[in-house]
Amino acid sequence: MTLRPMNIDPGKCFIAGAWVDPVGGDVLPLLNPSDGSTLCEIARGTAQDIDAAVAAADRALGGDWGRLTAAERGRLLAKIGHAVLDHVETLAELEAMDVGKPLTQARADVVALARYLEFYGGAADKIHGETIPYLDGYTVYTLRARHGVTGHIIPWNYPMQIIGRSVGAALAMGNACVLKPAEEACLTALAFAQIAHAAGLPEGALNVVPGLGAEAGAALAAHQGVHHISFTGSVGVGKLIQQTAGNNVVPVTLELGGKSPQVVFDDADITGARPFLVNAGIQNAGQTCSASSRILVQRGVYDQVVTAMAAAYDELRAGPALSDLDLGPLVSPRQREIVEGFIAKGRDLSCVARGQIVAEAPAGGAYVAPHLFADVPAEHTLAQDEIFGPVQVVIPFDDEAEAVAIANGTDFGLVASCWTENGARQMRMAKALRAGQVFINNYGAGGGVELPFGGTGLSGHGREKGFEALYGFSTLKTVAARHG
Ligand code: ADP
Repeated sequence: MTLRPMNIDPGKCFIAGAWVDPVGGDVLPLLNPSDGSTLCEIARGTAQDIDAAVAAADRALGGDWGRLTAAERGRLLAKIGHAVLDHVETLAELEAMDVGKPLTQARADVVALARYLEFYGGAADKIHGETIPYLDGYTVYTLRARHGVTGHIIPWNYPMQIIGRSVGAALAMGNACVLKPAEEACLTALAFAQIAHAAGLPEGALNVVPGLGAEAGAALAAHQGVHHISFTGSVGVGKLIQQTAGNNVVPVTLELGGKSPQVVFDDADITGARPFLVNAGIQNAGQTCSASSRILVQRGVYDQVVTAMAAAYDELRAGPALSDLDLGPLVSPRQREIVEGFIAKGRDLSCVARGQIVAEAPAGGAYVAPHLFADVPAEHTLAQDEIFGPVQVVIPFDDEAEAVAIANGTDFGLVASCWTENGARQMRMAKALRAGQVFINNYGAGGGVELPFGGTGLSGHGREKGFEALYGFSTLKTVAARHG
């Protein structure tokens, strides 16, 4: 099957600039989560396809791609970014059907992908080494060198954004990439490879092998020809990937999600905060690594915040992705089961509001109504575990010290925010909150191309986005010249 007008062949892999059948000849069904129908079949890539993709990437490094200067790579990335924007509607529709996200959110993801390419295109020739004062008679300097072949294992929740931040930065530094998209959602990864190639990306610079995690993903993580792995996904698989990469002694960047808090103090601008408090939890139906799933509220404004959030929840509507409501379905029946399991564990809690699933939502879709729980004990499962669905918990606190203790009291540390008009408290909280990103009087779930992003604890390590990612996707070489 060819998906028009993109001219992509979802039953194949994209290797060395061409559509190729998976060596094993097997395919997997790709589900439309809005109605449970099969959208199309995708390639079930295996270790042999990963071998071919890594070999193609390796050849690209010694070929046309590897010969480009940094400025030429930058210009090409910017051009690919423009080509992405030429396909906004088609890409948005593909993503909406595949992931189940409402069209407006899918459209924002396409624009973000283009913005990553613009950003990393502009940055490609602005990574400089340094000179280092050393012994008399020496000149010492550092060079930034590409890793070589980089492996990218990505999840299904934001395929385009994650391709932008990881493949975009890796290409900017001159690496050649092998991308293993998620088996639940891989159409825009394939479409992107096609667009990039048509815009002039030399063959082999980006190869895409769809397939199962335990097959194609594990083969990519273990491949001895891969020099860096970036992984975004679950904690369990992240641990496996780190162990596997350890066997080959290659660096890994892991982004494994979170349980990110927003802390609302008595003096906060509650009206200004309300849309951030809610959107950060239900955006992409809560299937966002940096979703804010915990809302900590000081007792003086507790009732006011819960009432305001509950009113917003009452208005929320979930329905088919192409109906473009507040929420689409979850990505799969399996994900719905997981989230419903968490909601069931909240039966002892006070569910103060829930949104609606619209009547016209097909029965076969993976819909979950958004749930807001209040007065949740900080140690409760719903306040500790990543749910990855449209569920938020509200937790009361008395003072700043207790707020910090609760906010930092999970195994994760991806994003946090605090809402207060007190400048000194803003600075104290920014230092005290255990997270890779702290927002003050705002919250950036998923956003911020320019802002270094990554976690601590079970949220992972390494930084993507911003300039910082370019250091992660390159290695430092020190040159010491003795000239007398
Ligand atoms: P989720 O549970 O949200 O689907 P996963 O961590 O399972 O998240 O999946 C994220 C990505 O990791 C997907 O591309 C998936 O195919 C891949 N993956 C899953 N298992 C493995 C594995 N054992 N080795 C490598 N990649 C894997």
